[in-house]
Amino acid sequence: MTANTLPGQPHIAYQANALCMENVKLADVAAQFGTPVFAYSKAAMLSALAAYQRGFAGRKVQICYAMKANSNLAVLQVFAKAGCGFDIVSGGELARVLAAGGAPEKIIFSGVGKTRAEMKQALELGIACFNVESEAELEVLNEVALSLGQKARVSLRVNPNVDPKTHPYISTGLKGNKFGIAHDEVIDTYKKAASYPGLRVVGIDCHIGSQITDSAPYLDAADRMLDLVDAIEAAGIALHHLDFGGGLGIDYAGDTPPSADALWAQLFAKLDARGYGDRQIMIEPGRSLVGNAGVCLTEVLYLKPGEDKNFCIVDAAMNDLPRPTLYQAYHSIVPVAIDGTTPPVTCDVVGPICESGDWLGRDRTLAVKAGDHLAVLSAGAYSMSMASNYNSRNRPAELLVEGDTHHLIRERDRTEEQWANERLL
Ligand code: PLP
Repeated sequence: MTANTLPGQPHIAYQANALCMENVKLADVAAQFGTPVFAYSKAAMLSALAAYQRGFAGRKVQICYAMKANSNLAVLQVFAKAGCGFDIVSGGELARVLAAGGAPEKIIFSGVGKTRAEMKQALELGIACFNVESEAELEVLNEVALSLGQKARVSLRVNPNVDPKTHPYISTGLKGNKFGIAHDEVIDTYKKAASYPGLRVVGIDCHIGSQITDSAPYLDAADRMLDLVDAIEAAGIALHHLDFGGGLGIDYAGDTPPSADALWAQLFAKLDARGYGDRQIMIEPGRSLVGNAGVCLTEVLYLKPGEDKNFCIVDAAMNDLPRPTLYQAYHSIVPVAIDGTTPPVTCDVVGPICESGDWLGRDRTLAVKAGDHLAVLSAGAYSMSMASNYNSRNRPAELLVEGDTHHLIRERDRTEEQWANERLL
């Protein structure tokens, strides 16, 4: 780490007033590939993964990267090569894992709305497990498995009714959420699952939400899940694995989530105390493996002073970086080069899209002028994977930085590709 590293971003630092990712100058990336453009640090992804792996040393754990966070093929390839499995939520994600060289037998399939076609595709490939979220889904999966002459391995996602204290849209473990089997119905649903000839019960799963910055709700949910494990096994249904869902939150704005190794030490102390320390454990982290590994570079198009507010209009927008408008999320925004001569102004950083919700940062103090580049930090997770072509904008290019080199891992969309599947009358 260097003295001028940015908080929460060990692989991004100013070197002689030029913002660098590892040893690559981000101004050079913007100049070569245009903006907006995403860049991800491979070292940052692997060091985030290493924190989990340290916490799991000597234990039976399969890390399944929740690829919804960032599903670029090269990102998947990095995690597959590092031994990760994948947590998927669609047939498209399944196809991406295969294209990136991931192993089907390390895939778990989550989500409340799997279709019959997706179930068939996953069964034919022999994935590790379906995380089932309702009785109705159990019935359909049983039918699909029988039609293929198979037994589907299933784990039930239980809803522990624990408040993760995160944004309501990414909170999933409360009674009123659409996710999981209600705590009171879990035992009966397990009995039902065990009675289906086309299913084999192998696990239990719980995911209470994303961007959790406190270990207490996580550990409470684990306790409630272990109470259920006691009861399910007492009813004669053996569970091969326990899946604790997504990972912890990241530092976007001075957030202080516990480190992965510290959290896992606490969780394993609990598992040991309750006699489950030797059990196969699964975990589905997304954001914490990629979030702080990525930045989105954008060019300042215009400065627009106003009576109430100043605006810094940039060429990235809510279609590229949907988190601010979707969750009122904060991303740090910093200059790619510091020139020391431009006076700072307080402004809202906004994109060119025709929506008042098209903002990336509010009330930021920035010393920039038209033509300068800005870096939107912590943009490795739930950014490009949520990007769209709204306003017929081309989605950005993506690069993977490795030491002092970088690889183009996704070309910017071409405009004609946007309508390639459309037909004139
Ligand atoms: N597992 C499931 C079922 C999820 O829905 C999510 C995301 O919400 C994750 C894992 C990944 O969570 P995170 O990115 O917070 O690690």
